[in-house]
Amino acid sequence: MRLDKLLSSSTAFTRSLAKVAIKKGKVKVDGVVVKNHAQKVAEDALVEYMGVSIKKPKPQYIMFHKPAGVVCANSDEDHETVFDSLFLPRVETLHIAGRLDIDTTGLILITDDGQWSHRVTSPKHNHEKSYLIDLDTPITEKQIRILSEGVQLKAEEKRCLPAQIEVLSELKIRMTITEGKYHQVKRMMAAVGNHVEKLHREQIGKIKLDESLKENQWRELTAEEIELV
Ligand code: URA
Repeated sequence: MRLDKLLSSSTAFTRSLAKVAIKKGKVKVDGVVVKNHAQKVAEDALVEYMGVSIKKPKPQYIMFHKPAGVVCANSDEDHETVFDSLFLPRVETLHIAGRLDIDTTGLILITDDGQWSHRVTSPKHNHEKSYLIDLDTPITEKQIRILSEGVQLKAEEKRCLPAQIEVLSELKIRMTITEGKYHQVKRMMAAVGNHVEKLHREQIGKIKLDESLKENQWRELTAEEIELV
């Protein structure tokens, strides 16, 4: 974590006051005065302000049941954001690991641990994401075949990786994909000539949306869930 961010998230300093304190030489990292506010500080470093050691905050890991109409952004002039529902300390240090469209509901993971969220979203880690999809016309065998083999999206060089499709009823399917392209599920369904009416994310990797969470509710992840990524 950057030194100024660490100081402002662990004390009453704002980011700009933290920068001033660092510039004035009041902050030591492992016994050495550091005047560069952007310096990265190792997880196990001893950080002191005027001789008093600063306790680093525990990283936060949260699952949120996103309702429709709420945007996945830190701030927005026109809409409520995911963060408006989180009455949490240090909310400004949090970010979303894998955004959803404004009209999509379901599982959102939120954290201040950049390495963890990178593991959630990086294509290298290949985490599956499961979506429940309400369609406007019944799914056909041909559409299922194309999606399962890997559909070609407009403006993309390569075909999508194969999707797993589970037909729940004529107008409802569960789709599991490993990629996270922009509007991917809606574009995949449009590419096979269908249309998403409603989209809901149930699962990211092995982390499932807690069924007891109603829309707009959140809870901390358990230690086991954090380890699943
Ligand atoms: N795919 C989409 O099209 N939208 C989402 O919100 C998530 C996946």
